[in-house]
Amino acid sequence: MLLNFLYYTEMDTLHMNSTCPFCDGLVFERDDIDTFQYGSDEDAVLLTASVIVIYCDGCGEQWTDERSEDTRQKVLEDYLVTKGIYLCTICRAVPVDASDGYDTCDNCAGAF
Ligand SMILES: [Zn+2]
Ligand SMILES: [Zn+2]
Repeated sequence: MLLNFLYYTEMDTLHMNSTCPFCDGLVFERDDIDTFQYGSDEDAVLLTASVIVIYCDGCGEQWTDERSEDTRQKVLEDYLVTKGIYLCTICRAVPVDASDGYDTCDNCAGAF
């Protein structure tokens, strides 16, 4: 796997904390592949998303932020579409089976 180590630039620090919330060490970013499970038991599938892992050079702690959440969500939506399942376009939370003729969302009650 190719890892890209990116130092924070001045512009990056404007958007995010540039020190570790745990030890105040320097934090860096790398591209990684995240595998996550959707569903349970025999319906479970493993999906992979390309994510940005933020990690601390001092204590070794690592975490992801909303950019990776967006990517996982996109991967999940792409997968669900292949199954004919569409998420609510408003709250993007509850799988809605469009083929059943639903036109409102159970979760946010929005029409789509
Ligand atoms: Zn740290
Ligand atoms: Zn909704």
